[in-house]
Amino acid sequence: MQIFIPVPKSYICSMINARIQDLLNKGEMLPLMEEFYTIQGEGFHTGKAAYFIRIGGCDVGCHWCDVKESWNAKLHPPTSADSIVENAKKFTNTVVITGGEPLMWELDYITNALQANKLKTHIETSGAYKLSGTWDWICLSPKKTKLPLAEIYSKCNELKMIVFNKNDFKFAEEQASKVGDNCELFLQPEWSNREKMMPLIVDYVMKNPKWKVSLQTHKYLNIP
Ligand code: SF4
Repeated sequence: MQIFIPVPKSYICSMINARIQDLLNKGEMLPLMEEFYTIQGEGFHTGKAAYFIRIGGCDVGCHWCDVKESWNAKLHPPTSADSIVENAKKFTNTVVITGGEPLMWELDYITNALQANKLKTHIETSGAYKLSGTWDWICLSPKKTKLPLAEIYSKCNELKMIVFNKNDFKFAEEQASKVGDNCELFLQPEWSNREKMMPLIVDYVMKNPKWKVSLQTHKYLNIP
């Protein structure tokens, strides 16, 4: 006679949790908040069709953040990176990984897989965490609440500074002094304060033409 020894449910759950955690640590799973095909609305690649992968988790704490629902990574299901790549390759050749703060996660695995499928890998990051992944384009958007690590300044292709108030011009210049000569510089009004700040940004860019204006054009177009 065969005897079945019941395995406690809590034990099975902890085995599954440990397995998922291991895959998250390796970047083979990521806490996916959403993925969608749209037009890049901001910065250097404005107007380009791109597949967006939004990964949950952020502790940078910008008070004006427009994706606060991304902050708690536990609310977003661990999702196989391979399945995200399979979805991405159905659309165009450009993928933007954003968040949240995507560098809270290990991104070597997914970016290698995306590039193996001939997709261009772009990231939007505050730079507050160690850089992982292989990138065709790095957009650095530093935040005062949690500054970028030093290593990313020489690697970013684009510096996108969000302007919420007048003090942000000084912060933008401080950050611009750290990036490489070929880095594209953008000033972008924070959305809720755009009417107040846009005239100041226009004036600033005309006086300091190394900067360009970035707008959240996807919001004007009413697309994601
Ligand atoms: S870094 Fe980005 S996601 Fe995180 S709080 Fe700031 S704006 Fe929001």
